[in-house]
This record gives sequence, C-alpha cells and structure tokens, in this order.
Amino acid sequence: LIRFDRVTKRFGDNTVLDDLDFSVSSGKHVTLIGPSGSGKTTILRLLMTLIKPDQGKIQVDGECLTHENRGGKLVEASEKHTREVRKKIGMVFQQFNLFPNMRVLRNITEAPVHVLGLSKDEAEERARELLDLVGLGDKCDAYPTQLSGGQQQRVAIARALAMRPQVMLLDEVTSALDPELVAGVLDVLRDIAHTTDITMLCVTHEMNFARDISDEVLMFDSGRVIEAGPPEKIFTEPEHERTREFLSAVL
Ligand code: ATP
Repeated sequence: LIRFDRVTKRFGDNTVLDDLDFSVSSGKHVTLIGPSGSGKTTILRLLMTLIKPDQGKIQVDGECLTHENRGGKLVEASEKHTREVRKKIGMVFQQFNLFPNMRVLRNITEAPVHVLGLSKDEAEERARELLDLVGLGDKCDAYPTQLSGGQQQRVAIARALAMRPQVMLLDEVTSALDPELVAGVLDVLRDIAHTTDITMLCVTHEMNFARDISDEVLMFDSGRVIEAGPPEKIFTEPEHERTREFLSAVL
C-alpha cells in the first residue's frame, strides 16, 4: 500500500533519508524506531506531502505521490493529484492540532463535510460513533481546551478516522502527554489496530506498544533501514549492533 523507492531527502548538506526503499502492505501495522534525528518523522511528512523528496518515488495504493502520468509522460505531480492521493492518508500528530474554536463534534465533522462532501447529518452520526469508539461519547459539545491532553489526542484519532483513510500515520502521539494519560490513548490505538483493517505506520518511543501492535518493526539509522523484522525478533534477538545499542538505551 505504501512504497518508497530509492527516496533521498536532504536539508542543506544533511542527507536525512539516503536512497531509502521500504514498503508497507495493506492492513499491516509497521513501526519505525531508531535514534533521534534518524529520519522517522521525515518519512511521515513526505507521505503527508508537507515536504518533497529530492529523489525517488513514493507510492500510496498504487498511485504516485510525487509524479503523475500526463499524456504518457511522467511529470511532477500537480497539487490536485497530490490532494487526491493524500485523501487516503490520515495523520495524528504529537501535538493534537485540534481547531480550538470548534466544539469536539465539529472538529470531527469539518473535513468529512468539506472534503468528502458528506451531509452534516451523516458526518455527525459517524462522528458520534467514532467518539464512542475512543471513549468520549459524552464530550461532543466540549471545546478542546476543556479536555485533558489524552482526551484531545483521542479526539484527534477520531478526527483522522472520520476521513476513512486507508492509512493512519501516527507520529509519537503520546510524547506530549502526561505519563498517566498515555495508557488510555495507547489502548484506543491498540483497539483500532486489532479490530479494523486500517494500515498503520507509527513512529513511537513506546516500545511495549510497538511490540503489541506491530506486524513489522523497522530500525532506522542515518536515513536507512538497518534492520527489519517482526517485533519478537527485533526486541529479543536483534542482529545489528546499532539496534542492540538503541534498545538497551530505551528499554
Ligand atoms: P525524533 O525521534 O527526534 O523525532 P526523527 O528520527 O523523527 O527524530 P526527523 O525529525 O525525521 O528525525 O529529522 C531528521 C533530521 O532532519 C534531523 O537532523 C533534523 O534536524 C533534520 N530536519 C528535519 N526537518 C528539517 C527542516 N525542515 N529543515 C532542516 N532540517 C530538518
């Protein structure tokens, strides 16, 4: 469903992703781990088209994010093409990024109404179901500032799901939370991972969570995947010295 083909991304002379290849199959949950600065968030930002690669191709569900075929020629993707491909992707950020001036329900219905063209009633019905799913069925009328960080993050998860994305990108979604609120958010995500067929690509420092939900863990170092495998393998018998060092520092 997601495919990076020889992707290179530089910021000035800093090569953050170096000729990177990797793919995520439909319905799988893949977690990116690795030291700070190794390029994990850059991957998610490329998928959200917040930034563009210097070289290489990125595909989502068979469609290229970076290029499009126009009259038999491969040209740089237009804004319109990128927007269509991006509809397949939902993202939850470290900082919840809710609209502060809108009530919870409207935070969730806004994009389905304006981007997907759902009626207000349809969007509200779906938003209520999603709020139940994340355990906040009674918070429809609250404003984000009236909620705890953990509750806001659960609203952000519901908001991402409301767009019915094929892929959810999760960028360190618990790292801005007080420790006692982390478990509630991770439980919701575990539930989604285990009960839906949504594809997930997560960047996390929560190794227990990664172990629970991942089909595959990719260890990054210096813009490359240095080791990949099922969590049982990566966490218990990593092959690469850098993976062992990293895990002994964080576990
Ligand atoms: P962390 O776990 O700390 O979030 P990460 O693996 O997600 O790290 P990235 O955020 O992808 O790392 O950053 C990789 C490198 O790219 C870092 O050296 C960072 O300073 C650099 N970088 C990221 N965004 C920019 C930018 N907009 N301009 C310049 N350099 C950037």
